[in-house]
Amino acid sequence: MTKLFVANWKMYKTLEEVRDFFKEFLPKVKDVSNEIVICPPSVYLQEANKLVQGSNVKIGAQNIHSELQGAFTGEISLPMVEEFCDYVLLGHSERRMQETNDIIHKKLLLVLGKKMKAILCVGERLEHRQLGDTNKILEEQLSSALHGVPSDKVANLVVAYEPVWAIGTGINATPEQAEEAHKFIRSMLSNTYGARGKNVRILYGGSVTPEDIGSLIRDQDVDGVLVGGASLNARAFAAIVKV
Ligand code: PEP
Repeated sequence: MTKLFVANWKMYKTLEEVRDFFKEFLPKVKDVSNEIVICPPSVYLQEANKLVQGSNVKIGAQNIHSELQGAFTGEISLPMVEEFCDYVLLGHSERRMQETNDIIHKKLLLVLGKKMKAILCVGERLEHRQLGDTNKILEEQLSSALHGVPSDKVANLVVAYEPVWAIGTGINATPEQAEEAHKFIRSMLSNTYGARGKNVRILYGGSVTPEDIGSLIRDQDVDGVLVGGASLNARAFAAIVKV
């Protein structure tokens, strides 16, 4: 299976910087066979989608609302983004600060209902890990998000294990910690969905850099990475996807 490399740009970059990024990044990765997805701020989805036409790079949205339309000032819906992207990130820990498991579940059903690919982020906070509750949290987040999702939909599901204490902190999970969590997630998915669950891609996210990608991705249960900070720089992210 090819590895999947996802960039989460969060609330960074001007339009000019977006254009500069792709100008530098696309030629660097044109021979890469691993799958690459860039998730820019939603205001740039249309332009980013135009810029990657004819390349091996796909576009993802960082979030959508749990309703398809309505009086939700400042929000963005699935029908608004679906024309411009193949993937949607859901349940990022920065969004979980204001979103419940139930809201994430509703969003996941919307995305999978549209045959788009959902990248569902799960991960424990530091206090959970210290209390030995990592698997409990992963189980809660996964089972509530996937409640009622039929097995024929999981081909469009990607799970990203993102320990909250590793996001934007410069502190990686060790390869062993990532491996252990990925194995747990894999076993949950295969218990629920059999072979289809076993094939769901599981990414690691949390302070990934060109320097540590090699050790993080060597485990067979790590199917790729979700990268924040280091993905803002075309040279650094190109080095990561070329691991
Ligand atoms: C993220 O935002 O999902 C992330 C992993 O960020 P960073 O790589 O900066 O830790």
